[in-house]
Amino acid sequence: MPIVKEVNTTETQFARDYVNEVFETVKKRNQNENEFLQAVKEVFESLIPILAKEPQYISQGILERIVEPERIISFRVPWVDDKGNVKVNRGFRVQYNSAIGPYKGGLRFHPSVNASIIKFLGFEQIFKNALTGQPIGGGKGGSDFDPKGKSDGEIMRFTQSFMTELCNYIGPDKDVPAGDIGVGSREIGYMFGQYKRLRGGYEAGVLTGKGVGYGGSLVRTEATGYGTVYFVEEMLKDKGRSFKDSTVVVSGSGNVSIYAMEKAMELGAKVVACSDSSGYIYDEKGINLETVKQLKEVERKRIKEYVEIHPHAKYVEEFSGIWSIPCDIALPCATQNEIDENSAKTLVSNGVVAVGEGANMPSTLEAISVFQENNVLFGPAKAANAGGVSVSALEMAQNSARLSWSFEEVDAKLKDIMKNIYKESMEAAENYNAPGNLVLGANIAGFKKVADAMISQGVV
Ligand code: GLU
Repeated sequence: MPIVKEVNTTETQFARDYVNEVFETVKKRNQNENEFLQAVKEVFESLIPILAKEPQYISQGILERIVEPERIISFRVPWVDDKGNVKVNRGFRVQYNSAIGPYKGGLRFHPSVNASIIKFLGFEQIFKNALTGQPIGGGKGGSDFDPKGKSDGEIMRFTQSFMTELCNYIGPDKDVPAGDIGVGSREIGYMFGQYKRLRGGYEAGVLTGKGVGYGGSLVRTEATGYGTVYFVEEMLKDKGRSFKDSTVVVSGSGNVSIYAMEKAMELGAKVVACSDSSGYIYDEKGINLETVKQLKEVERKRIKEYVEIHPHAKYVEEFSGIWSIPCDIALPCATQNEIDENSAKTLVSNGVVAVGEGANMPSTLEAISVFQENNVLFGPAKAANAGGVSVSALEMAQNSARLSWSFEEVDAKLKDIMKNIYKESMEAAENYNAPGNLVLGANIAGFKKVADAMISQGVV
């Protein structure tokens, strides 16, 4: 199942052999890190056309260098729960690539977090961040801490302990973390407070996703979800379609999902389903977003409570069953590998027109092939969900300038950035013989910026 259809020339064969050789080394060095290897494979395959055309990337050893993180930090996070028990979690920060700016990327708190997950996310972040056109390098971090069911006090003690170690490695010009799954404005607030206390100074630009009252940017909360919809809107526009009157399924019910639903609805779509890690809700009248926001953002409850308030809706306790609901547009906004080959086939047979990835790597490699073979418009995560980190970069800019922009101003900048990412990715796909293939286009466009900067800066 090749994602990239190749033209078979000597140069292409040489590039393919080189990619395979580097990938073998990556496999040997990172055994059993399946998510990481999946992310690398997707990028490497996409790069064959550019490596065939521009051999300096091979002679400069860019693939060997880009795939190896500049630094990986792993640390102990001890904390005390409400009953007085001592708990220990593992913390990570992968400082992946700083060729075009300080390391930038979120922190994920979820029991599934391990080196493979953080490395896949960090690797993706390099190309995503480059695509935004902002001066930010790639990084990612997190912990296997499970925030589910924890009290506010436990969350605070854990995040303070996490930051007590992390603060040794970050800074506004060095590495700027933000949120991801399990890390929202509450956690960022506690971490910012602890960082400030440890450093004894107000370095606003050290974290993004802060509250708007203390250095945060308007639209940061909405940015990933809105950005995904802006990106899909561009894909649809090219085919003479739009969100108006289409049926949309959005997985997840966290920050990305909620604001993707909000923007899709604003553009006239009917969103009929969303989910959490236990199951999904289907509301054929259209999801009531106020209820979802109240349940998830305020009460921190499970999505199944929705049917208590709206009894006509249906709750099904099967996470991936959501993809069997017929829809025109699917926005996977939950987590990695949530759409496998079977789910992709079901979506296709139900007539899906476009898929936009709000989460990071939500489609397996096999699922992506299914979409591409069936001419489904496919917006890969690196491009489609880059809105979040884009507004993070705008938050850093506002912090440096000590000012704050209006909602309209930031939203307009976000829209421009998403349009530009779409345009650049489409152009790269066109230039490298794969018109319309946004997986290839986004990977090549992001790679080129980072690789050129790496060449300029010598072998470091
Ligand atoms: N975690 C988000 C992402 O996957 C945002 C990162 C950030 O704002 O730094 O891009």
